[in-house]
Amino acid sequence: MTARLPRRVKLGGQSWTLQRVHLDDELGIFGRFKDRQSLIELDADQGIDQERNTVTHELLHAVASTARVFDEPDDEERVVSALAPWLLAMLRDNPALVSYLTARDS
Ligand SMILES: [Zn+2]
Repeated sequence: MTARLPRRVKLGGQSWTLQRVHLDDELGIFGRFKDRQSLIELDADQGIDQERNTVTHELLHAVASTARVFDEPDDEERVVSALAPWLLAMLRDNPALVSYLTARDS
């Protein structure tokens, strides 16, 4: 069973919309985030595994932007690109960890 792409993701007090679109092939990008619109666009032609990495990547951009982590866009791209596959693998490979981290009991 393939999980559905969520339409919205909450980050702090902000809700981001995830949307599949056909991005310009010449740009060679899998996704992009539009800060002012709280919108993450995902290229509709990518495979599901790539799309999951792209969602993770773009959400890390959203966090970095909202939290104003980086002064230099190149630094943000480098760090986000390095962390996204590791974060996704950590979540995918450790469902017990995800349950523990996301539990609301005390
Ligand atoms: Zn990026």
